[in-house]
Amino acid sequence: MAEHEHVRVAVVGSGFGGLGAAVRLRREGITDFVVLERAGSVGGTWRDNSYPGCACDVPSHLYSFSFAPNPDWPRTFSGQRHIRAYLEHVADTFGLRPHLRFDAEVKRMTWDAERLRWRIETGRGKLTADVVVSATGPLSDPKIPDIPGLDTFPGKVFHSARWDHDYDLAGKRVAMIGTGASAIQIVPSIQPVVGRLTLFQRTPAWVMPRVDRAIGPAERALHRAVPLTARLRRGLLWGIRELQVQAFTKHPEELGLVERLAQRNMARAIKDPALRAKLTPDYRIGCKRILLSNDYYPALARPNVDVVASGLAEVRGSTLVAADGSEAEVDAIVFGTGFHVTDMPIAERVVGADGRTLAETWQDGMQALRGASAAGFPNWMTIIGPNTGLGNSSMILMIESQLNYMADYLRQLDVLGGRAALDARPEAVRAWNDRVQERMKRTVWNTGGCTSWYLDAAGRNTTVWPGTTSEFRRATRRVDLMEYRVLRPPAGAPSDAEAAAEADTAKTGVTA
Ligand SMILES: Cc1cc2nc3c(=O)[nH]c(=O)nc-3n(C[C@H](O)[C@H](O)[C@H](O)COP(=O)(O)OP(=O)(O)OC[C@H]3O[C@@H](n4cnc5c(N)ncnc54)[C@H](O)[C@@H]3O)c2cc1C
Repeated sequence: MAEHEHVRVAVVGSGFGGLGAAVRLRREGITDFVVLERAGSVGGTWRDNSYPGCACDVPSHLYSFSFAPNPDWPRTFSGQRHIRAYLEHVADTFGLRPHLRFDAEVKRMTWDAERLRWRIETGRGKLTADVVVSATGPLSDPKIPDIPGLDTFPGKVFHSARWDHDYDLAGKRVAMIGTGASAIQIVPSIQPVVGRLTLFQRTPAWVMPRVDRAIGPAERALHRAVPLTARLRRGLLWGIRELQVQAFTKHPEELGLVERLAQRNMARAIKDPALRAKLTPDYRIGCKRILLSNDYYPALARPNVDVVASGLAEVRGSTLVAADGSEAEVDAIVFGTGFHVTDMPIAERVVGADGRTLAETWQDGMQALRGASAAGFPNWMTIIGPNTGLGNSSMILMIESQLNYMADYLRQLDVLGGRAALDARPEAVRAWNDRVQERMKRTVWNTGGCTSWYLDAAGRNTTVWPGTTSEFRRATRRVDLMEYRVLRPPAGAPSDAEAAAEADTAKTGVTA
């Protein structure tokens, strides 16, 4: 390995998680860090998902950092463009630019047990870091199912998260595969322009109205002049969701009332009973993410739209064949088929203390102490790790909790002094995971009668947090050293001074 740059902390990813970590590091007085990003700009999810209609399902005043309120959100629910601009603004306002390293895809991170540091190989060179904060996102690597014959398709194929803006859909016969959060935003956006739209639906979604409106100049001026009003607004949005979550986690039977509201929402737009039957889910609402839209059902009722109530099974040239045998001739296929969530690619690239990758360690399911630390991967933590996802509220709340944990982790390392690393004890990881899975048993995600991307290949829910965001906030306020082994360099390892000298000799690796 070539000589390289050494930093105290390497953050991977520059979405909400990575940028939030960077802000927090600076606030903790730590400036010796880099943010490694494979793309050419910040924004993560909100940079990559530029499909027509892309927008957030959580109101903007809650889906933003508490430490960076934006009084000027133009709508109650923001579109992708505004959220992306917000993240660029965060990078500027908090002085993060000097830390950002673009086009620096992390290819491999290997724990060096002798020097107690991570050796990191990126697309731009090598570096080492005392601590890695991995914020590569749960929904950042698109998943296209392995459909027989897809390679025989002569037309255009792309995933919702890699929209091809150069391809003109006007007048085309388009197949939309999937009915998840992205698909239900894409369908009404492209239906008016395409010639024919065929929606391949494996499982129908529950769809509720989206109470979205413009935030007028007077309201924005009030938030600017009296910031407390924006904070109150955020508090109210948070509080409502905090109360709602009990129905998801403890009393799924109470969700029957919400199901009736969703059925009424559908009945208002879809008059054809056969189409209504196709679109009516047979599982408890909330089991899969509840989707919000006012124009999805009306779009499906238009004459140029066909709903095939069956998944795509095979492609024969330009003919798409559904599992129920129905066929459609199309010019383009848009996959709204989600992401590698429970098999995130970064796990293949992290090699821990025993030489095994994180993916190997997680072959029986992802698990991490307090959503952050995996046993055998010292001084490595993940933002939005296992069981930190939410079904009904803002992921930014969870990210900020994890940033509290990260800050305390670094403080604990300081207190320990000298060269040290923290490795989560396997029994602590197990105990945490057992508690999470025990609570999971009652939740709608596990009992609601659906399969969803919250579950891994073995049917385990390794993605969602089965509680309130305040419970998670409390659980991540401090690092409990009893849950970790403190590692020190082995006898004969190079001293701090030698290691520092080695790092100083050449800072030729990843630079701005
Ligand atoms: C279309 C869409 C809508 C969503 N709507 C909501 C919503 O309404 N409410 C909600 O709470 N959440 C929503 N989410 C979830 C969203 O993913 C999170 O809220 C949040 O944005 C995740 O931030 P992140 O920083 O963890 O990950 P990301 O935003 O995905 O950022 C990860 C970054 O890591 C980079 N990266 C990945 N691998 C590497 C590597 N090997 N080397 C270097 N860089 C790498 C990526 O390029 C990316 O920039 C939505 C997601 C999508 C896709």
